[in-house]
Amino acid sequence: MRILLAEDDTSIADGICASLRHGGHAVDHVPSGSLADAALREHDYDLLVLDLGLPALDGSEVLKRLRGRGNGTPVLVVTARDGLPERIRVLDLGADDYLVKPFALAEFEARVRALLRRASSQGKPELLLGQLRLDLPGHRAWIGQRPLELTAREFGLLEALATRPDRVTSRTQLIDALCDWDQELTDNGLDIAIHRLRRKLRGSGTGVRTIRGLGYLLEQSDDATDESA
Ligand code: CA
Repeated sequence: MRILLAEDDTSIADGICASLRHGGHAVDHVPSGSLADAALREHDYDLLVLDLGLPALDGSEVLKRLRGRGNGTPVLVVTARDGLPERIRVLDLGADDYLVKPFALAEFEARVRALLRRASSQGKPELLLGQLRLDLPGHRAWIGQRPLELTAREFGLLEALATRPDRVTSRTQLIDALCDWDQELTDNGLDIAIHRLRRKLRGSGTGVRTIRGLGYLLEQSDDATDESA
């Protein structure tokens, strides 16, 4: 999943980034409200973790603008501002959950999991393609009853393809889904990840097809061992 973190406190941001990345997510971090607003207009995120006291543009204004555009991205507000009226105000602006600083990272992680699970169960709780079964929030995959051992990158790749069934996903879209701003994925790196994923999908009845010049398609097929790049 790709997550945007808007937080101006460097030490809190570092802790949150490390925890989310450890959980296999791609995280973009911005230290101001105006940068958060710009990032949300430019990219699709699976979750926004939003501090309220941000420079340049207050977090509640970022949230108001996001919902004003009809954008339903799940939002977890993390703030030092406590008190019932403040909590009600933020939830009424469209936040999905609220956590008061200081908080334990374990609780933060549990709330992130709950929000991602809720968001994905509004779509599909599990994705099924042939013998292949994907638990998106749990980051797990199976071929029939056999668990598939995938790296975080391979799972992200499979997820990006599986959530766009029967549609071609371009290389740019894949790189965008897999990488945050601090990471780089070269063309070669993407080719390697696709090659490895294809090998692991052998026997699943589902394969990654190359659509030349356009991108890739996850589809049910008998020739799931197609290795053409
Ligand atoms: Ca702050």
